Amino acid sequence: MNFNTHTHIQRQGSVAIVNAEGMVEFPAYYSLGVHPWNAEKGIPNQWKEALKASSCLALGEAGLDKLKGPDLELQKTCFIEQVHLSEELGLPIIIHCVKAWNELRAIKRVLKPQQTWIYHGFSKANLIKEVVQEGLMISIGEAILTNKKLQDKIAWLPLDHILVETDDSDLSIERIYEQVSELKDIPLPRLEKQIEENFKRVFTKWKIG
Ligand SMILES: [Zn+2]
Repeated sequence: MNFNTHTHIQRQGSVAIVNAEGMVEFPAYYSLGVHPWNAEKGIPNQWKEALKASSCLALGEAGLDKLKGPDLELQKTCFIEQVHLSEELGLPIIIHCVKAWNELRAIKRVLKPQQTWIYHGFSKANLIKEVVQEGLMISIGEAILTNKKLQDKIAWLPLDHILVETDDSDLSIERIYEQVSELKDIPLPRLEKQIEENFKRVFTKWKIG
């Protein structure tokens, strides 16, 4: 069984956490959060129940984006509110972070959350060690197919910090698994087992069936 940490499209054949922000009907497994681009909207009241449902595995995507979205201070307020909610509900957070790692790390160091944060769509090879040292999981997606610097750094990434995702691409999750297995030079079945273990450890609400 393959595990897709973050996608916007419901797919067959793998366990996938679908980002349900804006969806009317919730998928089999989903995450729900206020994307930093939508920070001014705040957390809708009707989400309270949806976040507590057994099929809600994570909060997010949530985070900070310096390239797009409203004023950074507003984004920070919205993000911090969601960090408190994730702690209260025992939900890990799917993190969206663009050119704001220092700010995100500062918030993490102040709030010292117990819940795991998953840096989704990770692409910044030069930050990988800092992000792992700070205790975040790395969710690898499309960038690993083309980003040479990231490809070089993957050999270093500890196996227990890896998750994989397809995000909004049409790629199959299998393609990401294959690429990571090749770059880390480990057999595919071993990688599959490791990612399954990681997924279960992080998304504690996930249960078979
Ligand atoms: Zn996404």
